[in-house]
Amino acid sequence: MRGPLGGGRPRSKRGPQHEHPRTVLVTGGNRGIGFAIAESFLAQGHRVAVTARSGEGPEGSLTVRADITDAASIDAAFTQVEAELGPVEVVVANAGITKDTLLMRMSEEDFTSVVDTNLTGAFRVVKRASKGMLKARFGRVVLVSSVVGLYGSAGQTNYSSSKAGLVGFARSLTRELGGRGITANVVAPGFIETEMTASLPAEQKAQYLAAIPAARYASASEVADVIRWVASDEAGYISGAVIPVDGGLGMGH
Ligand code: NDP
Repeated sequence: MRGPLGGGRPRSKRGPQHEHPRTVLVTGGNRGIGFAIAESFLAQGHRVAVTARSGEGPEGSLTVRADITDAASIDAAFTQVEAELGPVEVVVANAGITKDTLLMRMSEEDFTSVVDTNLTGAFRVVKRASKGMLKARFGRVVLVSSVVGLYGSAGQTNYSSSKAGLVGFARSLTRELGGRGITANVVAPGFIETEMTASLPAEQKAQYLAAIPAARYASASEVADVIRWVASDEAGYISGAVIPVDGGLGMGH
């Protein structure tokens, strides 16, 4: 059945089953949220590749070596994925780092290296992915930001700047590529139990917990499943959105 305005895709008559299989590339898929994202896509029958500097993605995924600060290594990783799994239809820019310290103590290198990995890294990956997506006139770009991108966080001027930058990037991509069947969205996790957050000072963790309406931290799979859905065929009319998965921490974004 067509929608009331006559557009959109026909409503599926399928019952619960796997989604239309796509070739998916997740950066930083050897651990943490990236690993969970790869697992979530695999569980729905997608062809999944992960980039990793070390270690491996989940069983059933293809692991390719790449450093997202190096465009040549990203290009080589995409070429390998294309050869083994076909053109990349869904790209999840997940790899990221923190180098937290107060502004007065933050070196220029602390700032630029975090921006180079989290923001310019996403640019490098999406630029490479866009080649195939434009040709196919289909693509899903999902950028993993953070609640602190828009909420702000003392001691994270570098990190929150990089994560806020992803919002402008996704929205500009939406305006540039939206007419070619490509969506670009930002998923902004709150406090997730991973190695990245395990290293935070106990005092800071307690402060976050007190501020989270859900009164708990999230598991990586709770973020992963939202990302998988934003990349699904069902979410084809969502683009340029910032989707929080933060238990209400950042309300008002
Ligand atoms: P982890 O520290 O557990 O994992 C980070 C991943 O990024 C690793 O796979 C790491 O690879 C990869 N990575 C880092 N730098 C590079 C690089 N130069 N090239 C290639 N890969 C790189 O982080 P999380 O799983 O916690 O975080 C994943 C994403 O989610 C990040 O973008 C983070 O900012 C974001 N996020 C996390 C939150 C949390 O609470 N954990 C909250 C909000 C956002 P390697 O193993 O080789 O180092």
